[in-house]
Amino acid sequence: FFFQAEDGIRDNTRMLTPTEKIWFNGRFIPWEEARIHVLSHVVSYGSSIFEGIRCYATPSGPAIFRLREHIRRMVDSSKIYRMELPYSIDQLAEAMVELVRVNKLQSCYIRPIVLRGYGEMGVHPGANPIDIYVACWEWGKYLGEEALAEGVDVCISSWARLAPNTLPALAKAGGNYLNSQLIRMEANLNGYAEGIGLDEAGFVSEGSGENIFVVRDGKIHTPPLGASVLPGITRDTVIRLAGDLGIPLVETLIPREMLYIADEVFFTGTAAEISPVRSVDRIVVGAGRRGPITERLQKEFFGVIDGLKPDRYGWLTPVPAGQPAMAEK
Ligand code: PMP
Repeated sequence: FFFQAEDGIRDNTRMLTPTEKIWFNGRFIPWEEARIHVLSHVVSYGSSIFEGIRCYATPSGPAIFRLREHIRRMVDSSKIYRMELPYSIDQLAEAMVELVRVNKLQSCYIRPIVLRGYGEMGVHPGANPIDIYVACWEWGKYLGEEALAEGVDVCISSWARLAPNTLPALAKAGGNYLNSQLIRMEANLNGYAEGIGLDEAGFVSEGSGENIFVVRDGKIHTPPLGASVLPGITRDTVIRLAGDLGIPLVETLIPREMLYIADEVFFTGTAAEISPVRSVDRIVVGAGRRGPITERLQKEFFGVIDGLKPDRYGWLTPVPAGQPAMAEK
């Protein structure tokens, strides 16, 4: 076996709970029928792009967080990889709202996947179709419930992030996650919750599935987009919220050792939300628990997504109750 029992990866929170429908190329199909042929281009060559979006239960019903921004990033990813999408942002947004509605979910994770399908073989994608699937299911906290309050122990990975002229980090492509898998498996095997990748030059880049923020002397630092990071939607959210709260924030190159001497470190991501880091390479960060700036940002963030604070940026797309508008074909 390549994994040890204590690597923490065999927890049931990761098990998929099937829902009724998956959206496929403009129609809803049963969950079980969302299958691809093993010789689809994507399987051999990793030609997929995807998104991860959360829908939250708010007092006025389910609402999808920053839906259009996620779809825009998906459109960007598809442009980078020359995968032309036959749907507009509006059509995709409508499809995702309808998907949550037909599956009758209050809160869930939404996973659109665009892939090069079946037909021809060879590295050049050729005439293989571009297929779009969108699934959703119920999903809990990514790094665990208590991680949001207590913080997680992380390490610097021995694997570097994608170098700029190898794989484009701004695209959320399936292939990028081979790098993420190496980082995450190594971290978990060594007893850490997550690993942080450095960029090609050795500066802090990001976690295997999260952007990273470092606080020192009341100022927040986060790596710039040029440091091989995914342009995270939660990253952007935190940048805006910090501005609103009057907390200074800079996008700047961060040397590794800055993590060791930081007052606070936290991750952001759709799955991880805002998760404090309490140690890096076994060096305690600040007081070894969630710091005050992390907590203020969490309060602001969860206030908006729980519908308890005003949605002043229009970040929430409501999922209306009632019969689906789009016919189920
Ligand atoms: N970096 C990587 C590598 C990720 O996979 C994610 C999760 N999508 C993030 C950062 C955070 O991005 P977002 O806030 O848009 O979820």
